[in-house]
Amino acid sequence: MKQLIAEKFRAVYGRVPEIVAYAPGRIEFIGNHTDYNGGTVLGAALDRGVWVAVAGRADGRRQFASDQRGAPVELRVEEMGKRNGSESWVNYPLGVLAALPVFGAVAPAGFDYLAMSNLPSGAGLSSSAAIELASALAFLEMAGERPLREAVVKIGKHAENHFVGVPCGILDQGVSGFGQKNRLVFIDCRGPVFETVPLPGDAHFWIFNTHTKHALVDGLYAARHRECMAAAQGLGVSLLVEADAAAVEAGKAKLAPEVFKRAKHVVDEIARVDAAKFALAGGDLVAVGRLLTASHRSSQFLFENSTPELDFLVDTLTATAHVFGARLTGGGFGGAVMAMTSGAFGEQEAQAVAVAYREKFGATPDVLHAQTGDGAKLL
Ligand code: ADP
Ligand code: MG
Repeated sequence: MKQLIAEKFRAVYGRVPEIVAYAPGRIEFIGNHTDYNGGTVLGAALDRGVWVAVAGRADGRRQFASDQRGAPVELRVEEMGKRNGSESWVNYPLGVLAALPVFGAVAPAGFDYLAMSNLPSGAGLSSSAAIELASALAFLEMAGERPLREAVVKIGKHAENHFVGVPCGILDQGVSGFGQKNRLVFIDCRGPVFETVPLPGDAHFWIFNTHTKHALVDGLYAARHRECMAAAQGLGVSLLVEADAAAVEAGKAKLAPEVFKRAKHVVDEIARVDAAKFALAGGDLVAVGRLLTASHRSSQFLFENSTPELDFLVDTLTATAHVFGARLTGGGFGGAVMAMTSGAFGEQEAQAVAVAYREKFGATPDVLHAQTGDGAKLL
């Protein structure tokens, strides 16, 4: 891949890159909208992601290109405003550049930049965190800095929260930064504290990307964020992680009906993450699978961030042999469903699910047998 991006870089800029960095996408294994509520979450880094190649320029100009976009976007160093329309993808590297000084690092001045990806974008697999972390590693290396992994994670999150404007928690960047092959990343988002736990050998991941996306997805994400904060306030805690199921039940009268449902989802989901971690340690994939499906049902009925397409996939998958459990993965309101299966579930079984989906919705989901992979790194 380093060779490939170097060739592409040469095709765009007529010279070789000086630095290449990589960061993976991720699966949200379990812990739906728990991160910004201070809860716990488990995720897995994928073996696919975003590569970023850069080379310095003496004239102080910055050129941004992506293999998924057209001609490079050229900006002067002082042009740090948000981009719109076809240039809006540049907000990810630009947001990283804006975040660097906040973390005491120097943003490089002029450079040529190319992003290359083998990760579906907008599918709930966090291509956004991947491009942020790969960009951050490349820019930091240009500035001669080798920060701790945790700082790179925080720079990526800062870019997404404050520049792109998505109030996401630490899950996406944390898993992209700390992922390891055949392991899951467990994050206690209050610290945040990152650990990895082994993934039992017979756990396989299948992802069904529906390519559906609710038109108001960004607004809906922000609305859920607001409802969670309102729930915390109503319950007299600063974040929902400080409440538990009993406290939410006891405070029901003080919460609007939707706000109560959001709070119940979050506190139950945090309990499910912790139960899943325990079951993983015991190698009990049947128990883990039940928790995954319970997580989806809670998204469906309490957090209300599922869709008929995602529900259909979960219903179909959980009625199929060799599937331990299935759930929407990522923010919801469209996107992808993840199933954890045994090795006996194969391409044929996956295609049967895709065919059933096509018969109902007239469109075919992308099917991906996902492998876990390592976290962000310089190449
Ligand atoms: P997800 O993170 O689930 O993939 P998001 O909507 O958060 O979905 O982020 C997707 C956005 O990230 C894209 O619309 C694009 O702006 C940006 N992006 C990700 N990867 C690339 C890439 N390789 N080239 C250009 N932009 C990218
Ligand atoms: Mg994203």
